[in-house]
Amino acid sequence: MHIDKKKCVGCANCVAVCPMGAIYIGDDRLSEINEDACVECHACFKGMSVENLPQQPTRFLRGVLAFFKLRFQPDPDICPTGAITPDELKWPRTLRRTFSDPQVPHESTGVGGRGTQEVKTNDITGRVKEGEAGFTVEFGRPGVGSRFADAAKLCRRLAKMGVEFQPENPVTALMSDVKAGELRKDVLNEKVLSYILEFKTDISVTTDILSAIEDEVKQLDTVVSLGLAVRCDPQGNDPVRSQLVAMGYEAWRGKINMGLGRRTNVALGVQEKR
Ligand code: SF4
Ligand code: SF4
Repeated sequence: MHIDKKKCVGCANCVAVCPMGAIYIGDDRLSEINEDACVECHACFKGMSVENLPQQPTRFLRGVLAFFKLRFQPDPDICPTGAITPDELKWPRTLRRTFSDPQVPHESTGVGGRGTQEVKTNDITGRVKEGEAGFTVEFGRPGVGSRFADAAKLCRRLAKMGVEFQPENPVTALMSDVKAGELRKDVLNEKVLSYILEFKTDISVTTDILSAIEDEVKQLDTVVSLGLAVRCDPQGNDPVRSQLVAMGYEAWRGKINMGLGRRTNVALGVQEKR
């Protein structure tokens, strides 16, 4: 994304719209974008109306009014001159947009935003089975963001511990070697609003995996959210809560999936194909 300096009048409306704080008013009192901080989410471009006022008369009017301590200020959701202009993105910068603009679907999954429906759709996908633990590790948030490099070391460590990375996940699609958990080198510096690493493993190593995640993420300069999914027994008890509490987590059930989306009870012979 960039600001057309021939159009911008420096009203600063766009500064507050950017979820990454990437827009600022420069020394020339016009808007600028910090390209490294911009995640190409298009919130500034799509979130503001445009009035297409001419730059020079508008700046002149603002200057005259300022002299009399008055202001010409457009409504806060308007770029008065249509100065915000999307760039033609090239690989790997295209990743910023696909992971940060929820209206752009991922090529690998066809899902928008972070690009995965994760284990919250387990009643339809049946990804996590009995005896397994499914993990989601979300890196970044609006206002913070995350580079893929943040996940690189953890991915390698998890691969050595034998996890199975979810094949239908856009971060897995960015791995040059999925078995080794190796992310492509050319994507590491790309910054996005957030992305979700997703994998499953045998339930017996749940606490080892959690310890490894804790160990790696405390060295990062971003926020990380963790999700864990397991199957309950027929009485509705889950097999990991006591272990989580023993590790110091305040464990509660974020979502109970009743299994009504699609029958997945193989034991009863009612498994349906996707
Ligand atoms: S909203 Fe438009 S005119 Fe105002 S500072 Fe931003 S780019 Fe410039
Ligand atoms: S595209 Fe998004 S991150 Fe980039 S400047 Fe616009 S609002 Fe900010």
